[in-house]
Amino acid sequence: MKTAFIYSDNFAKYDYGPEHPLKPFRLKLTYELIKAYGLLSLPDTILVEARPAGEEDLLLYHTRDYIEVLKAANGGLEIPGEERYGLGFGDNPVFEGVFEWSRLVTGASLQAAELVDSGEVPIAFNISGGLHHALSSRASGFCYINDPVIVISSLLKKGRRVAYIDIDAHHGDGVQEAFYHTDKVLTISLHESGNYLFPGTGFEGETGEGEGIGYSVNVPMPPSSDDELFAYAFNEVVPPLIERFRPDIVVGQLGVDSFLTDPLAHLNYTTNGFCEVVRKMKELSPRWIALGGGGYEITNVAKAWTLAWAIMNNADLPDDLPEAFIERYPFEGFRSKKLRDGEYREKGAGKEMMRDEVGRIVTRVREKVFPLINPPT
Ligand SMILES: [Zn+2]
Repeated sequence: MKTAFIYSDNFAKYDYGPEHPLKPFRLKLTYELIKAYGLLSLPDTILVEARPAGEEDLLLYHTRDYIEVLKAANGGLEIPGEERYGLGFGDNPVFEGVFEWSRLVTGASLQAAELVDSGEVPIAFNISGGLHHALSSRASGFCYINDPVIVISSLLKKGRRVAYIDIDAHHGDGVQEAFYHTDKVLTISLHESGNYLFPGTGFEGETGEGEGIGYSVNVPMPPSSDDELFAYAFNEVVPPLIERFRPDIVVGQLGVDSFLTDPLAHLNYTTNGFCEVVRKMKELSPRWIALGGGGYEITNVAKAWTLAWAIMNNADLPDDLPEAFIERYPFEGFRSKKLRDGEYREKGAGKEMMRDEVGRIVTRVREKVFPLINPPT
């Protein structure tokens, strides 16, 4: 199967600041690991240099006002009134090149979309994308431009039917909000419950409004949920919805801040559950635009997205990390020198409570939402 990997060395040039958890360097580390495994020189793989999105692309979702402010912030200096746009101290700092960075990430996602939509490749992966929190005139949750929304909007303009599947630890709130009132896009998000984690939304009762009723699907997971519960929830909810909705294209957000060792969220997934779900996502996608997402422990990011890329290419990888790679990055924290995590399972009464809770949510989604989803007319 032919695949495309969209990348630029320039991704790692940008810096949110020394205290900020989002490290663009993680993208370079992932690229290097994928390359070390030989997965960019497979016969059916194309490596595509990312190019920035044009301003008119950004306007597919964002307001002109906001784009002008973000452009003005590109020099890295504070802009008067920036806080009205979610910019400034904290989550969404104004750093040098913030507008260029956002254009490059979004451009890469649009290139992935074009390659997949044109039929050139059935699968394309932009590890820098998946910045799902940005709102139409506001930066949020480390995201300035919402590349998934822009990609989906560009596909809608061509009359495509799109399903969005988001497995980041955080609710895909920006994408849900953009398509909350339409039945042309099915958004599905599995994430840590908003009772415990930013952005505090994504409850199972949020199902869409107006024409869009039933087309926003949320599976909030209790903190400490493990691979078993993750795969269970995904398998119970996602494949039957996709089967019924019958999208032309699936956009997948593959955030890995859901891992046991991630510092920001409280989910306990490993590469095992992640790979099971990614394999399933591949199986059920007629065409697939895969995007990155969260991930704040950079070795998890490199390993998980390397494994995801291997799945996209039907490649089997040895579990020992390539020697040359380890020698090049001795201090990044690849302590086990293994690609895959060991098995991890929650046990005892806590697990049974989580199992009951996930079971209750899955049942509610199946009863309330499934009957509302219609196939294409
Ligand atoms: Zn996240």
